[in-house]
Amino acid sequence: MKPIRLAANRFPRFYRGGSAIDELRGTAPGAGGDFLPEDWVGSTTTAFGSAADGLSRLEDGSTLRRAVEADPEGFLGPANAEADGDRPALLVKLLHAGERLPVHCHPDRDFARRHLGCPWGKTEAWVVAGTEGPGPVVHLGFREPMAAGRLAELVAGQRVEPLLASLNAVPVAAGDTVLVPAGVPHAIGQGVLLVELQEPTDLSVLLEWEGFAVDGRAEGHLGLGFELALGCVDRSGWDPARLARLRGGRGPARPGVERLLPSRADPYFRAERLRPAPVATLEPAFSILVVTDGSGRLETGGGALELGRGDTVLVPFAAGPGEVRGRLTAVRCLPPDPAAAPSRRRQP
Ligand SMILES: [Zn+2]
Repeated sequence: MKPIRLAANRFPRFYRGGSAIDELRGTAPGAGGDFLPEDWVGSTTTAFGSAADGLSRLEDGSTLRRAVEADPEGFLGPANAEADGDRPALLVKLLHAGERLPVHCHPDRDFARRHLGCPWGKTEAWVVAGTEGPGPVVHLGFREPMAAGRLAELVAGQRVEPLLASLNAVPVAAGDTVLVPAGVPHAIGQGVLLVELQEPTDLSVLLEWEGFAVDGRAEGHLGLGFELALGCVDRSGWDPARLARLRGGRGPARPGVERLLPSRADPYFRAERLRPAPVATLEPAFSILVVTDGSGRLETGGGALELGRGDTVLVPFAAGPGEVRGRLTAVRCLPPDPAAAPSRRRQP
């Protein structure tokens, strides 16, 4: 199988952003104007409540989802197909926050299984690809334990100032990585451009919606009602030492390849930064490459592609071993380590 170059895959969301994605990809601003802040890359996941938004399409117009379902072993490899079923257990996005995003969180697998009939939650991770403006930050985790009643009050009253102040403000710069375990409340600050890895769902609980183009009171609780939905929020305190364990990676894996996330991310996804020195070798794996800088070339047993800044490429397992050369930086996104996770096979 050949590596597949992926076209942009954008659709309207309720918050502003996207100009940094246009800039990265070298594309003209889209017809959605300010409200195209995300690009779902190699996605077999649909947006919450939609049948088609979110699905990546191949050159012939068919969906990637259908192609993977027709050949899960070819795309995913036998171990991931066995563990994850016939879709990749991974959603990759480019996300550009043109305004600070609302405070929100995502359910974990247990909550999603019990209340939403879904085997995946939405642990996510951020690889910062760029920032604009002074003092870029992300808001992450309550600074001190938050009582359930107080949280319910802040959300019901949309008391944004005390809600935001209760979270850690974490400065970020290009190249930083942050693991965001399911449940931990967060908000991406204005001007931050991310390569985002997630479990393959679009499940969000909104803690804030005032001033955003969404009716959070009606749509922010996943149809569960806030009393139940707020049960997925991690209300524990995150001090600097605990937060530090979510940041940074594990150092070099092999020449030109750095492992980007702590090992506790392995049951959800894996990420590497490629900086060929002068070659970065790739083992056979379903993977999504996002070139954040420079240019070079990908060669696999199945075929070769030129790579430039903003390119996004899906490498199927059956493309075989590969090599990347050139002066470039790319993020390589991989599904969970099948050895690190219990089966979360999609129910038929
Ligand atoms: Zn999120």
